[in-house]
Amino acid sequence: MALDYTRQAFPNEPIAVVQGEKLGRFEGCLQRIRPGESAWGILHNVGVSPGRARFTLGHEFGHYLLHRHLAGADGIFCSTEDIARGQVGGVNIEREADDFAAALLMPLDDFRRQIPPDLKADLHLISACADRYGISLIATVLKWLSYTERRAVLVVARDGFVDWSRSSEPALRTGAFLRAKSGPPIEVPEKSLIANPDPLTDMRVGITQGPSVWFGEESREMTLVADAYDFRASLILLGDAPDRNFGADAEEDPVAIPVDERFRGGL
Ligand SMILES: [Zn+2]
Repeated sequence: MALDYTRQAFPNEPIAVVQGEKLGRFEGCLQRIRPGESAWGILHNVGVSPGRARFTLGHEFGHYLLHRHLAGADGIFCSTEDIARGQVGGVNIEREADDFAAALLMPLDDFRRQIPPDLKADLHLISACADRYGISLIATVLKWLSYTERRAVLVVARDGFVDWSRSSEPALRTGAFLRAKSGPPIEVPEKSLIANPDPLTDMRVGITQGPSVWFGEESREMTLVADAYDFRASLILLGDAPDRNFGADAEEDPVAIPVDERFRGGL
């Protein structure tokens, strides 16, 4: 698609080459095929799961359409961290490229038919969609979070600490979010499933947690352990909550602070 579309739409500077190679922790890049040439090439990592490789290819295609005018002489290079976190150095071109890839590979109208916005999804359902679109489970969870009407939070942890997290809009609006990047390190709650993976439970259906574990309220916690990538992730599904109207800039709202405190203290 990248080759055909750009040849027709931008014949003076198309994407002429798409090449997959094993690149270690380097995920991909968008570059001129040779210095001084107008045509572009995408190089992407295939030494990862097929879903991840496919997403990176979509991500680099997004950089071409949205950001090629910003590319320096060297092009745009994307590391594993950039793509997993969706942003780099305060500039959101990584997030934009991710959003493009997600929209291209997981069409919203189709996704909403698979999992209606008001449905209490679990990781089995979302995993079926990941298979349907040929995308990694985490990328599919992020897309689901972008449209669900449910209060839900994805927490990704490494070595017992929250690495990053993303809340659905209804969760964000009601103060259920973690400031893993801007605040002090946040330890995962002692009694959480993410801290204690249990091979005897179906972790993708999850368990019901009391209010002492996540955000001071009862939740359903579902967990994914990705040993190959050295991280664990939990999807926390919360109940309905009164709309406290935190506004668009929720992360700065002082009322939101106790949520972090409660969470860190384990209540
Ligand atoms: Zn990128």
